[in-house]
Amino acid sequence: MNGKQKILTLSDLSPVDRRLCEKARNVAQNAYAPYSGFAVGAAVRTPSGGIVCGTNFENASYGLSICAEMAAIASANSSGESRIAAIAVAGYKFAPEPKIIGIVTPCGRCRQIIWEAGSSTKEHVKVFCCNGDLSQIVVYGIEELLPDAFDGDELQRFRLEKRAAEDVPQSIENMNATASRKRVC
Ligand SMILES: [Zn+2]
Repeated sequence: MNGKQKILTLSDLSPVDRRLCEKARNVAQNAYAPYSGFAVGAAVRTPSGGIVCGTNFENASYGLSICAEMAAIASANSSGESRIAAIAVAGYKFAPEPKIIGIVTPCGRCRQIIWEAGSSTKEHVKVFCCNGDLSQIVVYGIEELLPDAFDGDELQRFRLEKRAAEDVPQSIENMNATASRKRVC
């Protein structure tokens, strides 16, 4: 947060958005987080209006831990819904003692995954970032959390550029010469 976002409460939200945030908060109780003691829940709303939830699932290796947002989106995909219209995330400290801390926002990896889950419809997925008791909520569009996102359109552009380069062999020779100079270094 950069201090510019308006902090809302549940009563500021529509009933469907309120329910999404409540689902995220409630499912956090199922988090497997013995290492951080920090429970995170996420709830995604699919274009058909369904809600699918996930929690963080930590691992002793730390690096292999799965975020709640990722778990929720993967679960929605497994049930046949690869696209999402909105996601809510909420978290709180439960060990060594319960503590409500600040608003939780998705990590960088999850922002990319959220972008992908919304990109084919070109909808701007709403991201409800909540604290642990839902007394503070900030609503972002995913395009605010991940400006200039890399996605399938970018890959398509690269493919087209590559194809254009293949039509001009001289260009490829120049590129190879540049690459070999770099290898010398
Ligand atoms: Zn994450």
